[in-house]
Amino acid sequence: MKKIAILGSTGSIGTQTVDILPSIEAEITALTTFHRIDLLEKQARALHPKMVCAVDEAAAKDLKTKLADTDIEVLAGEDGLVTCAAASGADTVVTAVVGMVGLKPTLAAIDAGCDIALANKETLVCAGKLVMDRAREKHVKILPVDSEHSAIFQCVQAAGGNPLAKIILTASGGPFFGKTAAEMRSVTLEQALQHPNWSMGNKITIDSATMMNKGLELIEAMWLYDMPQEDIEIVIHRESIIHSAIEFADGAVLAQLGVPDMRLPIQYALTYPARLPCKAERLNLAKAGSFSFYEPDETAFPSIRLARSAAAGRGNLGAVLSGANEAAVAAFLAGDIAFYEIAERVEKALLDVRFVKEPTLSDILESDREARVRAVNG
Ligand code: NAD
Ligand code: MG
Repeated sequence: MKKIAILGSTGSIGTQTVDILPSIEAEITALTTFHRIDLLEKQARALHPKMVCAVDEAAAKDLKTKLADTDIEVLAGEDGLVTCAAASGADTVVTAVVGMVGLKPTLAAIDAGCDIALANKETLVCAGKLVMDRAREKHVKILPVDSEHSAIFQCVQAAGGNPLAKIILTASGGPFFGKTAAEMRSVTLEQALQHPNWSMGNKITIDSATMMNKGLELIEAMWLYDMPQEDIEIVIHRESIIHSAIEFADGAVLAQLGVPDMRLPIQYALTYPARLPCKAERLNLAKAGSFSFYEPDETAFPSIRLARSAAAGRGNLGAVLSGANEAAVAAFLAGDIAFYEIAERVEKALLDVRFVKEPTLSDILESDREARVRAVNG
């Protein structure tokens, strides 16, 4: 029986992970939240983990009271998150927290010899080299949960060991597809939160609207599949049925298709290499109708260009891009800046923060911190 810790079990990916548990044989060792303790309590009573954590200290105190009649250990803070990742007895850790906060627990889980079912893309964007090197050294697997990267992973299973000539990363285009750069200056928070195909947490929903999500995914794919950014093509596919594709030396293209439902890639990361029946709706191609494809508009969506330059420059640029973007998205969600300013703030941080070619973990944390300050101050 697989032993699984779910970091961020109360979020969009976290709750969908809990949803597919009956389809797989698994024991849950740890669950965590930031401060949604009512849901965490419910999950804990149903799944009986060894330990739980609320990263918010006040919430952890309340959670401890709520679970006082159980033998579940209740932890607090980022240290508690790291303990849940590395010391709950899990063999696989699902990283479904949002943002850079996922980095330390992911590294701790790798050091403890756990495989990683990775949803938290910011971890690889910030510290891809560090994380992938550490995983190789410890012989642990990084199993992608992100639908595009899972699609690529599934195609790689069928590649028979042949190298990839190209990765074709599909993007829905988000709610602002087709808008001009001038029109993008007046879009609202409410519009930005309306994703056409996926229901997700707020941060990734805004990232999808700016298309920074695809930029982050480009860097995620670069590290996962050891591909230079120029060999990763981004194509808009409005229907989100083709989840991504790979191309070989002879020009053949393999793709993975399915309805847009994260439960399939989550489940595959947990059952790999086996495939089990899944709750996700089945694809009916005739019902899906026609597929459309477009080149991304990098003038209206400058985030793609910024992510490409961070990917090409490597070093600490991923950490700067991700940290600045997290802070700018938070500022946009709080109503402090306009939508188009998110990319402007990220660009400024990329220019201002000192470049470090071979960053250590502390360089990465420092770059992230500095980038956030630049992004907030404008
Ligand atoms: P979400 O906001 O719905 O959930 C985030 C989870 O992390 C929650 O459990 C929350 O309590 C916890 N959390 C938030 N802030 C925290 C903090 N500071 N410290 C510790 N825990 C904290 O987010 P989501 O949409 O589930 O996304 C999670 C990750 O998965 C992101 O990195 C996202 O890019 C990635 N992802 C999500 C989807 C999706 O469909 N939602 C798809 C692909 C990848
Ligand atoms: Mg994705």
